[in-house]
Amino acid sequence: MAEVVSLHPAPQTDWMAHAACKGQTHLFFPPHGEREEARLIREAKAAAVCRICPVVLECRDYARTNREQGWWGGENDDSRAAARRRALRAPQRVAVAAEA
Ligand code: SF4
Repeated sequence: MAEVVSLHPAPQTDWMAHAACKGQTHLFFPPHGEREEARLIREAKAAAVCRICPVVLECRDYARTNREQGWWGGENDDSRAAARRRALRAPQRVAVAAEA
């Protein structure tokens, strides 16, 4: 029998056991129809939790890699998308610098 090999290895999630946000899901995912002012307050509270979290880098990398939604690793959807765009442009900047 042939061995089945996954082309999509399971993401590493051991760091989640150390998350400072356990039990505070309401701060990290918006309720339906959330207004801008409420979002800013909720995200400020979530950011304060992330600032003391021992796994913030692992969390941020995980969310960027897996295109998560909500507040992860000190970032919301917009800041995560901006980080992905910067990362996509980064090799081009290195190539341009190498040509100069
Ligand atoms: S960095 Fe923030 S969202 Fe990520 S596990 Fe820690 S507290 Fe939760």
